[in-house]
Amino acid sequence: MKKHYDWLIVGAGFTGAILAERLSSQMGKRCLVIDSRDHIAGNAFDTRNEAGILFHQYGPHIFHTNAPSVVEYLSNFTTWRPYEHRVVGFVDNRLIPIPFNLTSLEILFPKMEADRLKGLLIGAYGMEQKVPILKMRQSSIQGIRDLASFIYDKVFYGYTTKQWGLEPEELSPSVTARVPVHISYDDRYFQDRFQEMPAEGYTKMFERILLNREGVDVSLGTSFLDIGGQVSYDNMIFSGAIDEFFSYSLGELPYRSLRFDFQTYQQHRHQPAGQVNYPVSEDFTRISEMNYLTGEFSNCTTVAVEYPQSHVPGSTVPYYPIPRDQNQELHNRYVALAAKEAKNITFCGRLGDYKYYNMDQAVARALSVFQQIAANPT
Ligand SMILES: Cc1cc2nc3c(=O)[nH]c(=O)nc-3n(C[C@H](O)[C@H](O)[C@H](O)COP(=O)(O)OP(=O)(O)OC[C@H]3O[C@@H](n4cnc5c(N)ncnc54)[C@H](O)[C@@H]3O)c2cc1C
Repeated sequence: MKKHYDWLIVGAGFTGAILAERLSSQMGKRCLVIDSRDHIAGNAFDTRNEAGILFHQYGPHIFHTNAPSVVEYLSNFTTWRPYEHRVVGFVDNRLIPIPFNLTSLEILFPKMEADRLKGLLIGAYGMEQKVPILKMRQSSIQGIRDLASFIYDKVFYGYTTKQWGLEPEELSPSVTARVPVHISYDDRYFQDRFQEMPAEGYTKMFERILLNREGVDVSLGTSFLDIGGQVSYDNMIFSGAIDEFFSYSLGELPYRSLRFDFQTYQQHRHQPAGQVNYPVSEDFTRISEMNYLTGEFSNCTTVAVEYPQSHVPGSTVPYYPIPRDQNQELHNRYVALAAKEAKNITFCGRLGDYKYYNMDQAVARALSVFQQIAANPT
């Protein structure tokens, strides 16, 4: 006889794992969580390599948030270790803080010119402000416009075209709006109030969220297509790609993919910061050094060299939804299709919502989906 579940949950990343935990612990629901990968934790998965270094298999994941409720929830499953991420960019043969800030200015320009530009920026916007590069380009002050063009060319343009394979104008304006110039000497990449990493890594945290939990079965290496009629269930959470679920019937939602080249060196430190960006030179966009992120030290160190690439469904990993208006419209049509044809299925998460979520946003979204389910129990 088929085993019956209240909920089939597709995906064991933040979205699926948290919903399984909430549905089982708070509502006593029986859940089956499946993931086509052979591990839990989705893209936040970390594991040790042959050298014993804890590394992030799907790219560097830095936890930061301003949402106390997210920290409170995750703290049930992990303790934390403070980590403030710093990024430098290789520009004109020098390393400058990214986002571009007053120190970057002082490194790249002769002192008198740097002082003049600082005066213009502080006069126009004030200290400790983040000004989107687009806004600076529209300034009425010639010196600010010139500086904005310089930063656009040296820091933003090359990185963006490598990252997305598109010209900046082809992307949603929100992408350029997100790239700030920081009128400050604060060289932290994030300014969120909470910047800490799970003390034993993400996978350990996921193990506590998901594994050995009463009412929750987990089946790894199991794609939604494989599950077929093997089990029965009343409702489904689908945190996979919504276009794949509907067999791409309205067309493919485009994604950008990545390739990571992991390299291990017999030295404590390979580079001067957790992340070095290469906005102009090289085919790769950035190199991230894992020991900075994990806080572990050893005789050797592992870096991830990150190459953006086109996404080919079935052969590469769909990493980033491509932020363009036409893609959002296509996603909206899939949502409408789901409302009509898949009433007992909740699509959510990075792939289900076709939206780039930081981890804290993915957690908040999962907790809010749970609130909606709890408010309307079936
Ligand atoms: C390169 C990169 C770096 C990032 N860095 C950061 C960072 O520094 N800080 C931050 O806050 N956020 C970061 N993020 C975002 C973070 O990864 C997401 O917020 C988080 O992974 C979202 O969780 P999710 O559960 O929605 O999706 P995922 O983690 O992608 O989980 C979805 C799971 O569903 C499974 N799945 C999909 N389809 C099927 C199917 N048909 N059948 C079975 N299983 C299926 C997948 O295998 C996957 O495991 C980064 C993302 C990327 C791509």
